[in-house]
Amino acid sequence: MYSDIPAVIALPLAALLGLVIGSFINVVVARLPGMLMLQWRAEAREALALPEESGASALPRINLVTPRSRCPQCGTPIAWHDNIPVLGYLKRRGRCAHCHQPISVQYPLIELAGGAMVLAVVAINGFDAASLLLSAACLILLTLALIDLRTQLLPDILTLPLLWLGLLYQLAFQPWMLESAVIGAVAGYLVLWCFYWLFKLVTGKEGMGYGDFKLLAALGAWTGWEMLPLLLILSAGVGAVVGIVVQLAIPRLRGMPLPFGPFLAMAGWITLLFGGYLMGIYQAIMLF
Ligand SMILES: [Zn+2]
Repeated sequence: MYSDIPAVIALPLAALLGLVIGSFINVVVARLPGMLMLQWRAEAREALALPEESGASALPRINLVTPRSRCPQCGTPIAWHDNIPVLGYLKRRGRCAHCHQPISVQYPLIELAGGAMVLAVVAINGFDAASLLLSAACLILLTLALIDLRTQLLPDILTLPLLWLGLLYQLAFQPWMLESAVIGAVAGYLVLWCFYWLFKLVTGKEGMGYGDFKLLAALGAWTGWEMLPLLLILSAGVGAVVGIVVQLAIPRLRGMPLPFGPFLAMAGWITLLFGGYLMGIYQAIMLF
């Protein structure tokens, strides 16, 4: 099951890989929305034949590599040994080495989430190429969920590769699923597109965004069309419960639209990891 790598090596290796990628996800979540905004502004100015932005009005140039990670409070670059996933945070007791202001616990939590995800995939499916691709899907879902929570965006640059990766995964590792995956991608997009227009015609409001359609299309490619009802039941069910709890607990969030992406991502993780078992239970209930 673990190909040639014994579990005693495969599992810690998986957790370590997830922690390191989780650390990178922190950077992507913090920077990608700003990078996209910069790109959209430049494209809009070009379309309007306006001169390029310069001076004080221009946003600072950032990408995923530069500048190096900095303290959000004082701007001091973080030394590599303080930037080691989770350990760096514990070593400095959650404070900046320079200004001693607290650093958000969100950073080590996301690193731990990344580690837990890759560990879960490898523990269930073994350590092989298929598991690495599956882990990539789980980590892209984590990134999308966090970006949607922060900015209400599900960038194409993440949802579309997730879809292609899903088709590639089926082609390489379970070609008998390819037909179901292609139908799943198309139907996943269409079903939310229909919901969107129905909701808009009835209420005049936009219930979700095109990013949600693309995300469900990607999940359909990964799981096959048979899982779409389960994905929708899980995401809408959890979304409704969380929505009600959040609005009761935090009055200022009442009436605020709740992003749907994190719930789709959550349903995606559950289905990617335990889809086989769930489908068995689901079919048993339907037959009953
Ligand atoms: Zn600082």
